[in-house]
Amino acid sequence: MNVNSAEIAKFNAQADWWDLDGSYRPLHLLNPIRLAFIEQFISLNTKKVIDIGCGGGILTESMSKVGAICTGLDLGIDTLQVAKDHALANKLDIDYQLISAESFSETHPAEYDIVVCYEMLEHVPDPASIIKACSLLVKPQGWVFLSTLNRTAKAYLQAIIGAEYVLHLLPKGTHDYQAFIKPSELLRVARNERLALKKLTGIDYSLTRKVFSLSNDVDVNYLVALQKR
Ligand code: SAH
Repeated sequence: MNVNSAEIAKFNAQADWWDLDGSYRPLHLLNPIRLAFIEQFISLNTKKVIDIGCGGGILTESMSKVGAICTGLDLGIDTLQVAKDHALANKLDIDYQLISAESFSETHPAEYDIVVCYEMLEHVPDPASIIKACSLLVKPQGWVFLSTLNRTAKAYLQAIIGAEYVLHLLPKGTHDYQAFIKPSELLRVARNERLALKKLTGIDYSLTRKVFSLSNDVDVNYLVALQKR
């Protein structure tokens, strides 16, 4: 199976998904802009959406709140329990499932208007296999949104040295540089899976204002919008 069990264990052990100042602080800070990125292309309201590697549900819940009908997949049993408990406490109807994207795509082909996989591709052994599953899950003309980290010296300095060791924005060992993905590599796979590029956007972190914003610089974190042909 396309999973790194040490990675899953790491996320299971960091259960503070909803602590705004905890291990997932950057995901909370990123959330408004990555949600808005999706809605530049398609309204989430009433759409069938699947969130691959949903974690504790930070993005999933925000999509549900704007009217999306959400399914969330993750392979972390404790992680998914956090997501389920939090949705229940907040009276959100989200279908969370402990299953791989690849297996789920076999039984749910072309079922989703929108497929999202944010900040997860750099944690799996074979990201191409996840992108293939995303393409299988999405309806014709439907949208796939991905985000990950670029494999550049700047990303090593900012996302690992800066975020993990200097600013303590992320726990040490969160990211492995070798698993970062260049946009050209990601887009080659997407093209092979009949996913056409609609937009590639970078994400910038302001040290002074401590906020993320969309940017033309894709050297560190980036987002892509793809449409199924
Ligand atoms: N997408 C969420 C969480 C990102 S953290 C967000 O951006 O808010 C990465 C998540 O991917 C973790 O919850 C981890 O358990 C999950 N993950 C890692 N490998 C996976 C795999 N092969 N299949 C499903 N989920 C996986």
